[in-house]
Amino acid sequence: MLSFNQIKVDDSDNNIEETKKVLNFDITIIGGGPAGVTAAVYAKRKGWNTAIVTKNVGGQVSDTAEIENYTGFPMVQGYELSFKFKEQIDKFDIETIEGYDVSGITKLDDGTFEVSIEDGTLIKSKIVIVAAGKSWIKLNVPGEDKFFGRGVSVCATCDAPFYKNKIATAVGGGNSGVEAAIELAKVASKVYLVHRRDEFRADQILIDKMKATENIELVLDSVVTEVKGDNLVKSVEVINRKTNEKREFDTNGVFVEIGLIPNTQFLKGLVKLNEKNEIIVDALCQTDVEGLYAAGDITNVEYKQIVIATGEGAKAALSACDYLMREK
Ligand code: NAP
Repeated sequence: MLSFNQIKVDDSDNNIEETKKVLNFDITIIGGGPAGVTAAVYAKRKGWNTAIVTKNVGGQVSDTAEIENYTGFPMVQGYELSFKFKEQIDKFDIETIEGYDVSGITKLDDGTFEVSIEDGTLIKSKIVIVAAGKSWIKLNVPGEDKFFGRGVSVCATCDAPFYKNKIATAVGGGNSGVEAAIELAKVASKVYLVHRRDEFRADQILIDKMKATENIELVLDSVVTEVKGDNLVKSVEVINRKTNEKREFDTNGVFVEIGLIPNTQFLKGLVKLNEKNEIIVDALCQTDVEGLYAAGDITNVEYKQIVIATGEGAKAALSACDYLMREK
C-alpha cells in the first residue's frame, strides 16, 4: 500500500494554494529498465521501503528485438524480458509509479531528497538511485519531426510489422541500426541501411547476419539530409560524404537508430556529469552527492549492455543499503 499524505504548497507569487501528494520511502529508484528494476529487487529484499518511478517498465529493453547475450536466456524478445521485469516487481510488491517523468530532485538540509514527479507528486526519501537510462538521438533533418509516427520511428521492434512488403530504411551503424535493418528485412520487401561511414560499430555477429540478408542494401558513407512525403513518408534524400553525390530513394519508413543521450536533464546542477552528460559514479555506484547513487546506461560506466546495467543496479542497491545500515 502507498503511504502518502497531502501537503498544501503556498505559491505566494501566484497566490495559488495547491495540494500535493507526498509519498515517503527509504529508497527511490528513478528508471524501470534493467538497472532500476534490479536495484529495486535488491533493496526490497533487504527490507527497505522502496519505490520505482518510471515512464515505462523495461526501458530500452522493451524496444529491443531479439536478445541473445543476456545470461541464462539463449534468446529472448525484449518485450518478453520487460514482462519478466514486471513480474519480478509484482512478486516483491515494489511500489511502482509508472507513466511519468521525474522533473527534479532536491537535496534538503537534513540530507534527505525530494523527487518531484511530472504529475505533481513529491517523493521524500533518504536515498535516490538514478537509473533513468538514455533517450534516442534525433537526425535533426527536415521532415524528421513532421513525419514522426507517420513513417519516422525510433523503434524497429515496435513498428517493423507495419512494413510488411514495403520499403524501409534504417539509419545507424551500431547494434541498434544493424539490428533494425535485420528485423525490418524479415517483413519488408527491401531495406536500406544508411550509415555515415563504411565501417560498422555493431557486433560482428550482427554485421555478418546483415550482410547475409539479401534484401538489405547498404548505403555507406552517407547521411540522411531530408525525409520527404505527403501525409506519410515517401522517400529519403541522402548525401554521400566522400563524393558529395545526392541520392533520393523511395521508402515508406525511416528508422532512426543513431544512438542515445543520457536522461540527465532533471539532474543539472545537482550531481557531477562527464562531457557526455553521463553521471560520474565510483566502483560502488556512488555519485559525488551523499545518498545519491546511479546505475546503468545513464552513468559513465563503459559498455552499455543489459547484463552490465543489471549488475550495476544490484551494486547501487547493495551500496545504498550498506549506507542506510551505517546511518541507522
Ligand atoms: P551507437 O553504438 O552509439 O551507434 C550509433 C551509430 O549511429 C553509429 O554507427 C554512429 O556512427 C551513427 N550516428 C551517430 N550520430 C549520427 C548522426 N547524427 N547521423 C548519422 N549517423 C549517426 O548506438 P546504438 O546502436 O543505439 O547502441 C547504443 C548502445 O546499446 C551500444 O552500447 C550498443 O552496443 C547497445 N546495444 C546493444 C544491443 C545488443 O547487444 N544486442 C542492441 C542494441 C544496442 P559512427 O559509427 O560513425 O559513430
